[in-house]
Amino acid sequence: MKFNRRSLIKSTFAAGAVGTFAGCLPAEQQQKVVNGDVLDKAVAAPILKLEGITSPVKIASIELLQKDGNHFVRARSTDGAQGVSVTNSKAAHLYPILDKLVIPCFIGKDARDLEKLVDSVYLYKSNYKMSNLALWCPLAWVEFSLLDMLGKIADKPVGELFGGVVRREIAIYRASGNRDTTPAEEIEVLKKLIDRSHAKAVKFKVGGRMRNNADSIPGRSEGLVKSVRKALGDDLTIFADSNGSYDAAHAIRLGRMMEDHGIDMFEEPCPFDWLEDTKAVADALSIPISGGEQESSHRRFRWMIENGALQIVQPDLHYYGGFIRSTRVARMAAAAGLTVVPHMSGSGTGYVDVVQFASFTPNIGPYHEYKGGIEKSGKWYDPPLNSDNGVITAPTGPGMGTTIGDEYLANAKKIV
Ligand SMILES: [Mg+2]
Repeated sequence: MKFNRRSLIKSTFAAGAVGTFAGCLPAEQQQKVVNGDVLDKAVAAPILKLEGITSPVKIASIELLQKDGNHFVRARSTDGAQGVSVTNSKAAHLYPILDKLVIPCFIGKDARDLEKLVDSVYLYKSNYKMSNLALWCPLAWVEFSLLDMLGKIADKPVGELFGGVVRREIAIYRASGNRDTTPAEEIEVLKKLIDRSHAKAVKFKVGGRMRNNADSIPGRSEGLVKSVRKALGDDLTIFADSNGSYDAAHAIRLGRMMEDHGIDMFEEPCPFDWLEDTKAVADALSIPISGGEQESSHRRFRWMIENGALQIVQPDLHYYGGFIRSTRVARMAAAAGLTVVPHMSGSGTGYVDVVQFASFTPNIGPYHEYKGGIEKSGKWYDPPLNSDNGVITAPTGPGMGTTIGDEYLANAKKIV
């Protein structure tokens, strides 16, 4: 491996960055030039470690249940083992796909073959024709429920099934989703988020969200970028997310402003499927570019990693189909010296899924998105989860760590 000129620029930037995000990456995680063969080799090895489960785990049923405004997927084996996952908010719309196009790939199969079963969904009834989050979300919910089941059989947290828990304390960042605030108002919002959570990192929105360079309020993005570091101080890590707001020229212009004003990461500068534009932004700037929350294709992640279009890779654990597919992305990113910061979609226990994924992924980034809700869904874990001084500790219980079982789900409404 050798460093290219741009990675040297980024490394230099990282070492001298005002914030702490890029600067805290170990030297071996600086961006490397890799070709696709190296990336393919990185994903070739099996992922799951299930040697301890010596008997077949035949999948008897997979159901979608609804209770208290949340959806749950419950998997059961023929010998009475059970696993439960919590979906994101898309379940209300995607349940027919779950029912007709995903669940049939698993019934009657041995859950220990989970990696193969996950891949089988792509070709079942030509599912590849709709390979986007509408297909991958239901797959993720089934995968999580089966991982919960396998973990409970093995009496190990899910991280141990992925090669071992390497960290338990996961630092969070708080994100503001506002686009209707003035820069001064938004800075007060960010200060409140930091004060309440004690998070050491924060994210704010720029641009008009997929609005072709139009700002949500004229001048808002520039105003925030120029003032936020000074207002929040030098100790905080600060991210900016445009949700695909700009073409390359506008993103480079705003990105240069971010570099001048100590912003630590520029997320989704261009629309998610404008891969070449995103690469052009990454080539031009020294600030790390992140993205991938909307990506649904392994090959497009491979292209972005091979071509240096991203420095921080962000598969969404639900939108992208679960831990196994996301681990392949993480392995490609690791081969290129990049970090992974999973996107957190929706409600439910999405933040716990991120925490679990971070617990076993070696090249995980230092801060992870948390949108609140621990007071409610954190009680589904034993002990209940807390955000303590900006850190959430990964659940230690088997599987996904939840205690959601037949007692809680007894009067849930069966959807499929
Ligand atoms: Mg985003």
